[in-house]
Amino acid sequence: MMRRKRHALVVFVSMGAFAAIAAAEGKKNPFPAMGGPFHELVEEGKPVAAIVAQDEAPLIEGYAAEELQRYVHKMTGAELAIASAAPADTYPIYVGAAARKRLPGFDWESLGDEGFVLRSTDEGLHIAGAKDLGTLYGVYTLLERFGCRWFVTGDIGEVVPSSQSLRVGTLDETQTPSFRYRWIDSGDWAIHNKMNISVEVEGKPVGPQWRWSYHTHFLLVPPEEYYDEHPKWFAEVGGRRPRPEDKHHQGRQLCTSNPELIEQMAENVVAFFKENAEVDILSLAPQDGGGFCECPACRALDEDRPENEAWHARYSNRLAVFNNEVARRVGASCPDKIIKVGAYAMYVRVPSDPAYRPEPNLAVQVCHTYSCNNHAIDSDCARQEQYFGKELARWAEITNHLFIYEYYRKGMWGGMPFDQVHVIRHDMPYYHRIGVEGFYTQPARDRWPSCGLNHYVAAKLIWDVDLDVDLLLADYYAKFFGEAAEPMGRYYEGLMAAFVDYGDCISPYGYKWPTFAASEIFTAEVVARLNGALADAERAAAQDIVRERIRPIRARIEYVERVLDYLRAVRAPFDGIDLADKAALEAAHGKAQEIGAPLSRAIKAFCKKNDVRSFGRIDAAHENLRFLVVLPGEEPLLR
Ligand SMILES: [Zn+2]
Ligand SMILES: [Zn+2]
Repeated sequence: MMRRKRHALVVFVSMGAFAAIAAAEGKKNPFPAMGGPFHELVEEGKPVAAIVAQDEAPLIEGYAAEELQRYVHKMTGAELAIASAAPADTYPIYVGAAARKRLPGFDWESLGDEGFVLRSTDEGLHIAGAKDLGTLYGVYTLLERFGCRWFVTGDIGEVVPSSQSLRVGTLDETQTPSFRYRWIDSGDWAIHNKMNISVEVEGKPVGPQWRWSYHTHFLLVPPEEYYDEHPKWFAEVGGRRPRPEDKHHQGRQLCTSNPELIEQMAENVVAFFKENAEVDILSLAPQDGGGFCECPACRALDEDRPENEAWHARYSNRLAVFNNEVARRVGASCPDKIIKVGAYAMYVRVPSDPAYRPEPNLAVQVCHTYSCNNHAIDSDCARQEQYFGKELARWAEITNHLFIYEYYRKGMWGGMPFDQVHVIRHDMPYYHRIGVEGFYTQPARDRWPSCGLNHYVAAKLIWDVDLDVDLLLADYYAKFFGEAAEPMGRYYEGLMAAFVDYGDCISPYGYKWPTFAASEIFTAEVVARLNGALADAERAAAQDIVRERIRPIRARIEYVERVLDYLRAVRAPFDGIDLADKAALEAAHGKAQEIGAPLSRAIKAFCKKNDVRSFGRIDAAHENLRFLVVLPGEEPLLR
């Protein structure tokens, strides 16, 4: 399946005929070519259009007009005037309120908070949302139609075509987002790609305000403030209630059955919403890791579940009770606010009581970990079904606001390239079908050479799940890599095929941690194929910017080779030993430490020299060898 697609892609990338390729049935071309009649905006470097916006426009609308002006200047060198009326003999580009005024009878309500209309006629080009953020998204969408792209974060990710002249074809379309809350990375890249969470305009936060990503119990009830007077509000572990260091302490928890704590938490959440009236969504979730309370009252709330469900349901019910208690209290005085709670790890499963319902002001964010990241959620992957899909479907049935927490970079723990596009293209539409409203994934940022394509494709689909992913990819190769598009297309398709061909599940924690799967994914043939494509790309690259984009990707593959060598070396001492033999394990561990040390130092030096940055790089992992080999006293991760 994957292979067949790869051939198709290579053909049309090399023909450079992207615009002529039709989208697959039921899918949309992400950047359809504009048809005539055309209206000139810039001719031979001279502006022949003007941007029309109301005087003293509000912040976002004014910024939208300036962004259009800025990028037209970058493309053509011409500066379009921004005025409250179009000067004679110019083609007017109406932005925001000016456009709304000229489109009477348009159903603005259908656009919601963030949709927009793009319409060009002989009278002018109209770019408007019902609200200002929609107008800004309309400007970015138009710029994409002109060929601008924001593929990865930073200047290196921006593509702006250069031309003496610029014209707009006939446009008559409206767009609204597939997902209400969209949080992938942050900053300029994110807003250019129409994210609405964790984005700013001129330093001012815009879009819905969602405060904090996840683990927040201690941010809301800080131990620094409450432990001395109320030690009983904090978890009992091993017969004691240890004092957490501070509000960032993970692996420590609250005693969530304590009635006073529940009152205080609700009071603090209400106080937060009063002090931060602009915040729409507040996260309420336990600290990361374990350390959950062992007091009789907390334990009485836990369920007795069958063995194959027990771990992932261990704290589901106690937290469901706590969340509802807090939500009811907060809802009474802040009825319009959403409290986002989580379904994660030891509480990812839905409580088994068929009558259980999260309060209507709760959003449940289901975290996609511990199951599988290499197969689509609605595929026949048993791990996906057992540890995630089944629970997600149930949460979808009973939850008013369903959110997702994804890990599109997690598998690159160890720093190796991590393809998720082959699942994202199925999972995003699936999330949409079951009614997901909010989506977050851990960011790519400067790790884009390992996982940036995941985040770009996800960003495009989160806005419109019906986009044709093959066309998105072909456009990515063509525009990001220019003259090296064909070999870079082969590189990415080869990477995707490696994950597909590997075939088995990959799961952060649990089954086949990526550092264990790596040697099976990055076989000698795969590495040779990827290196071959990159070498061809280096030969084809003529522009400095294209070489700059290929270089860090090439460094990642060299890094992979070094990591595989390192892993082979540190695992050798474990070959053939009895995992139950503690002394033998400890001896092997010591030997692995010794053999791995110089290799790990060399990897560190290589990463420093080549600017290979990553979350959980191998040289850091070497310190304790965790997730790389079987440790004494720990269950083998490789199951
Ligand atoms: Zn307790
Ligand atoms: Zn799987």
